[in-house]
Formats: sequence, structure tokens, C-alpha cells
Amino acid sequence: MFSTLSRSVVLKRLASHYGMTPKGFARRFIAGETVEEAIEAARALDARGLLVALDYLGERVNTSDEAAAATREYARLIDVIVASGIERNVSLKLTQLGLGVDRATCVDNLRRILEPAQRHEFFVRIDMENSPYTEVTVEVFETLWRLEYRNIGIALQSSLLRTEQDVRRMNELGARVRLVKGAYKEPASVAFQQKEDVDAAYLRQMRLLLDHGVHPAIATHDETIIAETRAYAAERGLANDRYEFQMLYGIRRDLQAALVAAAYRMRVYVPFGREWFPYFMRRLGERPANIGFVLRALLGEQATENTKR
Ligand SMILES: Cc1cc2nc3c(=O)[nH]c(=O)nc-3n(C[C@H](O)[C@H](O)[C@H](O)COP(=O)(O)OP(=O)(O)OC[C@H]3O[C@@H](n4cnc5c(N)ncnc54)[C@H](O)[C@@H]3O)c2cc1C
Repeated sequence: MFSTLSRSVVLKRLASHYGMTPKGFARRFIAGETVEEAIEAARALDARGLLVALDYLGERVNTSDEAAAATREYARLIDVIVASGIERNVSLKLTQLGLGVDRATCVDNLRRILEPAQRHEFFVRIDMENSPYTEVTVEVFETLWRLEYRNIGIALQSSLLRTEQDVRRMNELGARVRLVKGAYKEPASVAFQQKEDVDAAYLRQMRLLLDHGVHPAIATHDETIIAETRAYAAERGLANDRYEFQMLYGIRRDLQAALVAAAYRMRVYVPFGREWFPYFMRRLGERPANIGFVLRALLGEQATENTKR
């Protein structure tokens, strides 16, 4: 339902009108539409002991011109981050760089970002999108690895049946994995359909990563999984700086703070940009209670607007 809604033009127009005002409902999950707002959010997180990764939102571009424009934006983002002095860590989606147009264009664009990123010692994470892109994303990642880019990592989704093998594939390379449950609705032919199965797979893959991976990122807001990870790492005598936890901007801020207080590395993924609508809809879809939160915020804003008139 949410993927259909996220393509709704009317809803998108409504959302863009109300969502990003200074107190807009989307602000809880998205740092802002400009890089300056994202940097301000990153500084506030840093002041609370949190690590950050910036994500300039955008996905599924349809032409090579759009992909080139997104590539230029990312290159500009690198310069702005360097000038700002915040942590040099970004995340991106391959369909934003033209994977849906053609693979060679996407690889060329990615290299245009990785060159300055490498020069300025950035870490660049490749997000994982829906299953038609899984294999090609892993393959593009491997191509770049063969080209000796080492400042890169990939996200893998425990909901997919294939992921255990992908985790082993990345562990063999020595590449950094961010493990997530998966944000896309996928068919039974490729993905577990029950939450228990996704969670059980997550735990198996978390152990594989802690045992054999390189600086894995355990990216979840699931308290049980976080507790299991902490217990497993302690049992194995793994120091806190050998892996990290990651969460999304605006979600479980209490848990983020608790992990910092307990001396764990805790990174917040900070999304920003004008193309925030599909990301925002995925966050709503994950948790129906968020819809109530949005409606309350919307009604509140409209009430304020009415009183202004
Ligand atoms: C740093 C990071 C990067 C990510 N990158 C990707 C990626 O590249 N590809 C991809 O497919 N997915 C990505 N995701 C999203 C991920 O796949 C899940 O959809 C998302 O994290 C929710 O799952 P969960 O692990 O928190 O577990 P869940 O079982 O869904 O949630 C556990 C608890 O977390 C809280 N929670 C979870 N989601 C929300 C929400 N939207 N609003 C409020 N509370 C919530 C609730 O308290 C819930 O009970 C990323 C997630 C993180 C944290």
C-alpha cells in the first residue's frame, strides 16, 4: 500500500507543502532539504557523542542527465562536508547514479564520486535497494573493489533469502557490511515473509559478521537484536571499536543515547534533500503508529495556519 501511496502525485504535493516547514511532520525523519540543514543536524548529533553518515536523498532517476546531475550534487556535497569539518561519511543509492539507465553510466558516476571521496578520506556506503537491484549492486561493488577502492562499504538485507551467502561473499573480500532488515516489500520467491524469520536471519548474519567481517555495522532499532549483539560481542571478547551500531535520524533517539552512554559506537544516518518523499513513505510504512504522528502534526499545523489568517 505504501509503495502505491508513495507514487501518489496528490499526496506528494500535500506532503511537500506541509512536510518540510520549520515544524513540518517530515522533519522528525529528514534533516532538511539543504546540505546546510543536514550539516547543522550532524553537528547537533556530534555534540551528543553520535557518529553520522549523510545521505543526499534521491533514487530511480530515469535519464543519464539526471544521474549526472545527482553525481555533481554528491561531488559538491563532498566539498561542503570537507569545508564544514563534520565527519566524512556518506551513503548513496546506485539508482540515483543511473543504475536503472545503464550499468556503465552508474559505475562511471560512482567513480566520479569515489575519486574525491578517496582523496579526502571519506567513507562511502552503498545502500541496498529493492531485489531487482540486489545482484547488480553487489557486482558493481565488487567491480569497484577490484579497482582498489577501499573506502567503500555495502548494505545487505537480512529479509532476502540470498543474504547469508552475500555476507560470506563480502567477508571473504574483507569489505564492510551494514546489516539491515530490509525496507522493501519483496515476494516470497526472494524474501522471508514472516518477521520472526527475518529476525532469526539477522541474528545469524550478525554473528557471521562479528566473527569474520571487517568493522560491521549493526543497523537496527530492534532492542532484542541490539542486546543479542552486545552479548555476542562480549562473549567473543570483541572490543567496542571493532563494530558499530547504526540507526536512522529521528528514530529511537532514547536507544541511540543509551548506546553512546554505554560507550558503543553509534552512527546516525542523516537523510536530507528535496527528494525526501519515498524515504519518508518507507518510514511510515514500517510503523503504522507514525501515521497518527503525521496526522496530528498536520492537523496541528493547519490549526496554526488557520489562526494566523
Ligand atoms: C542506518 C540504517 C541504514 C539503512 N539502510 C537501508 C538500506 O540500505 N536498504 C534497506 O532496504 N533498508 C535500510 N534501512 C532500513 C531497514 O531495512 C529497516 O527498514 C528499518 O531499520 C526498520 O527495521 P528495524 O531493524 O529497526 O526493525 P523493526 O523490527 O522494523 O523495528 C524495531 C523497532 O524499531 C522502532 N522502529 C523501526 N522503524 C521505525 C519507524 N519507521 N518509526 C519509528 N520507530 C521505528 C520501533 O520501536 C520498532 O518496534 C536502514 C536502516 C538503518 C538503521
